[in-house]
Amino acid sequence: MQYQRLVDLYLKLEKTTKRLEKTALVAQFLKEVPAEDVVDVVYLLQGHVFAPWDARKIGFSSRLVLKAIHVASGTSAEKVEQLWSKQGDLGLVASDLIGKKTQSTLVSHALTVKKVIANIRKLATLEGAGTVDRKISLVAELLTSSSSDEARFITRTVLEELRVGIAAGILRDSIAQATGLSVESIEHAADILADYGTVAQLAKEGKLDKVSLEPGRPMQMMLSIPVKDVTQSFEELDKPAQFEYKLDGFRLQIHKKNNQITLFTRRLENVTKQFPEVVDSVARAVRGESFILDCEAIGFDPKTQTPLPFQSISQRIKRKYDIEQLAKRLPVELNVFDVMYYNGKTCMDIPLHERRKLLDKIVTPIPLKIKTTEKLVTDNIKEAQAFYDKSLAKGNEGLMIKKVTSLYQPGRYVGGWCKLKPVLEPLDLVIVGASYGEGKRAAALSSYVIACQDEEGNLLEVGRVSTGVKEKEEEGVTFEALTKLLKPLITGTKGREVFVTPKIVVEVAYEEVQKSPTYGSGYALRFPRFKRLRVDEKKVEDINSLADIERIFHVQKGKKPIL
Ligand code: ATP
Repeated sequence: MQYQRLVDLYLKLEKTTKRLEKTALVAQFLKEVPAEDVVDVVYLLQGHVFAPWDARKIGFSSRLVLKAIHVASGTSAEKVEQLWSKQGDLGLVASDLIGKKTQSTLVSHALTVKKVIANIRKLATLEGAGTVDRKISLVAELLTSSSSDEARFITRTVLEELRVGIAAGILRDSIAQATGLSVESIEHAADILADYGTVAQLAKEGKLDKVSLEPGRPMQMMLSIPVKDVTQSFEELDKPAQFEYKLDGFRLQIHKKNNQITLFTRRLENVTKQFPEVVDSVARAVRGESFILDCEAIGFDPKTQTPLPFQSISQRIKRKYDIEQLAKRLPVELNVFDVMYYNGKTCMDIPLHERRKLLDKIVTPIPLKIKTTEKLVTDNIKEAQAFYDKSLAKGNEGLMIKKVTSLYQPGRYVGGWCKLKPVLEPLDLVIVGASYGEGKRAAALSSYVIACQDEEGNLLEVGRVSTGVKEKEEEGVTFEALTKLLKPLITGTKGREVFVTPKIVVEVAYEEVQKSPTYGSGYALRFPRFKRLRVDEKKVEDINSLADIERIFHVQKGKKPIL
């Protein structure tokens, strides 16, 4: 298929903000896409070139794009740079310069979707000395054969900033519309495959009912909703319910197949290499030929054997070198709480109490290495409250409360899990804009506009945050560091305000959620405070939703802010 046809769709999608129109456009397009291009087209519609859980990264900087535009257009690098600082968007620069060139030389262009995706994928696989020029020529080759619009979208795809706005919900509905299958069946397949490209292909081929879990390939995780107290959790989940400590670690989904163990994070990133001690513990302590487990890994101090907060061990997730030494200094203990697949069969469709029974049978605890989470199954409010107090006294975040009859259902609103914390839990939000400071902070972006998302993935502002960002590096994340992260993402400027591509996910604490007409969400955070960067753990799709904020607005009474 010609890439231009996909570009025509991008252009139409850019012109509408209406969910139904976007859905109809994508559905019609998916009907027409030839079978061999479906997966690629769906990836490109989401601005990716790999499955969402694929560890490969394009990793092509703005600087290199600038060089590729220079090579492809014949315009000097200085001139390209000048245009870039004027327009603030390399996609537009490419579009202008490449458009001119193709018009003047009348180059006939016949880029295919396959060619575009193949060249961009190669950027992620070439490694080592001497590959930079090769990478530039891969992009330049595409640009040379592009029309003006194609150049814009190729540039944005290479930079992973497509901005056409196809949220997962729209894709799900479009695939359903294009194939006549139910939205539920599409969503179920997407939970299992964690990849809408493959879902679309199988749906078109009529093979969706063949979709099943496969150890080695990550699945979406089950999530919870906040409740204000134990009583409310019983109302949500029925009696009795299962109570577990909410541990302050990080989520790991653990797979085993053919004696190979694989670990995935909450973002479905493969972190097997980073946690050799976890691989070892699972191999020793969990019986079974094949399985998928859900777990929370907790760091602890090897000297005192006491738990460490997530912050102290987060560096292990990204670490690429000296892994063994770091594992000794900051070891983690695995707390297993669910099993979704066991010895060739899915367990997603059996109730929690049975899954838990199986789990307790197959995991043999090893102190400070691996265990199943402590649990209390009760219908008694006093007992549950005492368990909550004990959890907090031990330094945990609160409780996870689970419906004993619930199936394993990925997603947030399925009603199987609740979380209870004594504090107003911080929100994960994305920075969509910022403004330059005054006086000594005049060169730095120092106040950040933060947004949540609605069901369609539209970003809605909830306030501005500045407090909590530091002046000095020793104290934490600085204005300078945030400015450095945000500057390459600037898409427009208005006076001292800038708008940025939403990429930087931050955790924000606050004293209260208030109704407010000032911000697009209809809510504002009172006294927001920057807590930490969450770019390594959460993607923009994972930020808190408007529904989360509404829920917090209703459960906030009596909770302490954690400023
Ligand atoms: P948070 O930012 O509060 O950790 P989240 O967005 O990752 O939340 P939620 O569904 O809101 O996901 O909260 C559940 C999270 O709590 C899980 O993702 C997991 O990492 C963590 N957790 C800690 N202890 C448990 C437990 N016993 N059972 C399930 N999840 C647990």
